[in-house]
Amino acid sequence: MDRVAGAEGPGRVTALKARLARLIAQDGPMTVAQYMTAALHDPHDGYYARRAALGAEGDFVTAPEISQMFGELVGLWCVQGWMDMGAPAPVALIELGPGTGAMMSDIWRAAKTAPSFCGSAQITLVETSPPLRAQQEAALAGAPVRWAERLAAAPEGPALIVANEFLDCLPIRQFVRTAAGWRERLVGISGEDLVFGLAPGGPAPDVRIPEALRDAPEGSLAEIAPGLAPLVEELARRLHAHLGRALFIDYGAPRTTPGDTLQAVAAHAKVDPLAAPGEADLTAHVDFASLAAHGRGAGLDVAGPMPQGAWLAALGIDARAQALAAARPDKAEAIARQRARLVDEDAMGVLFQVICLSSPGLPPPAGFA
Ligand code: SAH
Repeated sequence: MDRVAGAEGPGRVTALKARLARLIAQDGPMTVAQYMTAALHDPHDGYYARRAALGAEGDFVTAPEISQMFGELVGLWCVQGWMDMGAPAPVALIELGPGTGAMMSDIWRAAKTAPSFCGSAQITLVETSPPLRAQQEAALAGAPVRWAERLAAAPEGPALIVANEFLDCLPIRQFVRTAAGWRERLVGISGEDLVFGLAPGGPAPDVRIPEALRDAPEGSLAEIAPGLAPLVEELARRLHAHLGRALFIDYGAPRTTPGDTLQAVAAHAKVDPLAAPGEADLTAHVDFASLAAHGRGAGLDVAGPMPQGAWLAALGIDARAQALAAARPDKAEAIARQRARLVDEDAMGVLFQVICLSSPGLPPPAGFA
């Protein structure tokens, strides 16, 4: 691969970094997706294998960690979805990438306003990280919970599937438009450091650059998450066999746009993604247009993407914030701040988008005008 100037990844040599460097020296540069998979999921040294990284004390904070209102509104959304499906029993309540379990415990508490829903629901948490599974177990003590390694291993049947900040963990491949066409961006080595470079030749034969980017100018970068299409296929298999919905909330643009969105975060600060694999969370923006296109292509009904702020407003976050503040006047200011962080355009309100894939023929999902 050719070195790209100014793309060095200096930093401490972690055990994983040394191992990846040896692997690259032996077998040649790896794709960004292979690097992300190792950095996040290596069973010994991967970021999620080693640590429970969320919350104010951890590396990053997510919407369910900011306020209980977020999970509560998702919970009411689930109850409405269940009624739209004809209130089937049993119903699988499945969360992909549940983190600390905060969102599911807020969903479950809010859903208790509909006892027949709670009586019918079986929770499955799809989680690969052992330390996070332990946190989820503690957060959901007393609820009917089981765990699965993959969505395909979750129980079959009518289902409500929810996922917040899960798709941004899907490994991406990156391609750069050069004078000689699209070339894949790879991770190679320079001394002890990991560095970005470009593969010789055009894009790998197994990759299609998204339609919207095919004529992008020289220097443009295209990202593709190879795991997205198989995930939608598995959702479609389930949602065609039984009634159900899948709700995804994440950051990303509603339209496919060029640009490098690979991002590493440790201790609430952005860091060099190559500096210390296994020590920082690695994510990329979600391509909601591709997700919607895959969903429609698989015969599902697609609602959204729409901005998180507008969606939470439509579900009644203002009334919920007022009720919480009335019950705890001493917390009123904090509750107002949390609401603003979730909804405001200069906070998470627009950067985060919401999309719902449903079995064909169900009424429009709540919150999607
Ligand atoms: N949804 C939570 C956590 C987001 S962090 C929240 O909003 O706070 C991403 C979560 O996805 C973690 O729980 C991580 O362990 C999980 N995860 C990442 N990749 C995964 C995969 N391939 N399969 C299952 N879980 C995964």
